[in-house]
Amino acid sequence: MSDFPTSTRVVIIGGGAVGASCAYHIAKAGWDVVLLEKNELTAGSTWHAAGNCPSFSTSWAVMNMQRYSLELYRTLADEVDYPMNYHVTGSIRLGHSKERVMEFERARAMGRYQGMDLEMMQVSDLKDKYPFIETHDLSGALYDPDDGDIDPAQLTQALAKGARMAGARIERFCPATGVSRANGEWIVHTDKGDIRCEKVVNAAGYYAQRVGEWFKPFGGRTVPMTVMSHQYFLTEEIPELKAWSEENGKLPLLRDVDSSYYLRQEKFGLNLGPYERNCKAHWVTPDDPMPEDFSFQLYPDDLDRLEWYIEDAMARVPLLGTGGVGRNINGPSHPRYTIPGGRDRRGKAES
Ligand SMILES: Cc1cc2nc3c(=O)[nH]c(=O)nc-3n(C[C@H](O)[C@H](O)[C@H](O)COP(=O)(O)OP(=O)(O)OC[C@H]3O[C@@H](n4cnc5c(N)ncnc54)[C@H](O)[C@@H]3O)c2cc1C
Repeated sequence: MSDFPTSTRVVIIGGGAVGASCAYHIAKAGWDVVLLEKNELTAGSTWHAAGNCPSFSTSWAVMNMQRYSLELYRTLADEVDYPMNYHVTGSIRLGHSKERVMEFERARAMGRYQGMDLEMMQVSDLKDKYPFIETHDLSGALYDPDDGDIDPAQLTQALAKGARMAGARIERFCPATGVSRANGEWIVHTDKGDIRCEKVVNAAGYYAQRVGEWFKPFGGRTVPMTVMSHQYFLTEEIPELKAWSEENGKLPLLRDVDSSYYLRQEKFGLNLGPYERNCKAHWVTPDDPMPEDFSFQLYPDDLDRLEWYIEDAMARVPLLGTGGVGRNINGPSHPRYTIPGGRDRRGKAES
């Protein structure tokens, strides 16, 4: 007899960072849960994410969730005995205007009530923490000691391990193919069999809108999302950074929200990740249909699009210009990174 589960309390569709985290938390809460992943865990956006872990937000709820996540990441590896690359480097968030610095002040105050030690920084102190930075046009900065980066694939595997330890079932290479209703329960269909359950979690990443369509006959709504092409690139090793780093450890992450990028030390090189104002959507027009499967795949490099950000970041940290481009990652991402109708620092209207 097959041991494929036929009933559970919760079925999670998707085994990226989000699905694995849901499985971990639901199983630890004592509920029966089955996670279905159509390929291998992390096959969607998760395997190629840069893995930056901010705590900063201007929303109380988002900040609280991020604060909780960082606390979890500090203890998870030991809890489930799954070592992970997790670097708590701290971050410096740059303010180009008095208004931006006021926003930082507000976040700092909110963070204090959540037990976090965000600190305002004077421009004159920036070089103490980040000797390679140009500061002449800045108004202030915020230091976040808890910021850092984690290997997203390892994190997902650790969460999945913790979920299994708490009783969750994880079925890999098992796509959910549809849902129906019977006797007040959901039936989740797969090629290996049907699973009856009370609740379904849609954690299908950039396929979430497609999965959401299955729920429309039962009163569900369109999942509002667009798949964006999001890039970051890694430089080759930079000898000056290597020499500094061997003495002083890892640089804090730089976040420039006004120019809209992050710059992080990766081994002895740098990782530049812009959040593009005029970013590019994929799989939204008939001539660019969404593939049935895009597991562990990337889009072609499109570095020309990043030219403005690269130049801006090189003016901020000239050291960046001394490292040749090593590797570019251009992958599908589903959150929205742009603010429609706003203006970027180039004065261009955003699309
Ligand atoms: C270049 C890049 C850099 C990024 N950097 C960062 C960063 O620094 N920090 C950060 O927080 N975020 C970052 N992100 C965003 C991050 O990658 C995503 O927010 C995150 O990985 C989303 O996880 P997820 O579990 O929602 O989706 P996914 O990882 O896409 O997982 C969804 C899973 O669902 C599965 N699936 C789909 N349909 C079905 C089905 N019918 N049945 C079963 N399984 C199904 C897929 O195979 C996939 O494994 C970055 C993204 C990109 C592209």
